[in-house]
Amino acid sequence: MVGTGILKGMVETARNFVGSYTDEARLTTVEYPEERVPLQEATRQFPFLVHDGPDAHAGLRCVACQICEKECPPQCIYIEKSKDKKPDYLGKPQFYPAIFDIDISVCMSCQICVEVCPFEAIKMDTAFELSNTDRFGGLLWHKEDLAKSNEHYHKIHPTEATAVDERLAAEKAKAEAKANAEAEAKARAAAEAKTKAAGATAPRAT
Ligand code: SF4
Ligand code: SF4
Repeated sequence: MVGTGILKGMVETARNFVGSYTDEARLTTVEYPEERVPLQEATRQFPFLVHDGPDAHAGLRCVACQICEKECPPQCIYIEKSKDKKPDYLGKPQFYPAIFDIDISVCMSCQICVEVCPFEAIKMDTAFELSNTDRFGGLLWHKEDLAKSNEHYHKIHPTEATAVDERLAAEKAKAEAKANAEAEAKARAAAEAKTKAAGATAPRAT
């Protein structure tokens, strides 16, 4: 029948109109800030530095390689490398950032710093209520403000953080297996050299 499509469309529009007032799942407006919509896992605002364990300095994953500083499009990351080293998650001595600042007023939340970091050390936070009356000091975040635990990372991005943990654990297991194999080979070579030396100095039968 001519006009059936128009009628169907109008019924659908009316259903949506009434539903948007009566169906709780479709009430998209909330009374913020008292009421809050749960954030999606992919939400991103500004970067933070991940640390493992309770000590933010000892567990900081960042090794001050400065790749993120070079790649940041608006150049809002400032890093100064330490003079000494501390062990990373593999126990390997690494530099760490003596200074790591991000100017949040310039950051455009592009996540490029996260993508280029080879150490899973910098991730995007979801915090967004960051207004401040100090335009300069208040929005220049230092290492102490940026460092957040791996538990925080799991809380805001559980799927991603679990995948990262698995990757780091696999890398650690591989590094440990390699170190054990090297130590065993070294011990075997030393034992062989000792046996050889003992054979060479033993008195010959006449
Ligand atoms: S999110 Fe983008 S703009 Fe912000 S610090 Fe990282 S690379 Fe720079
Ligand atoms: S956050 Fe990552 S890329 Fe940036 S300096 Fe630290 S280790 Fe390097």
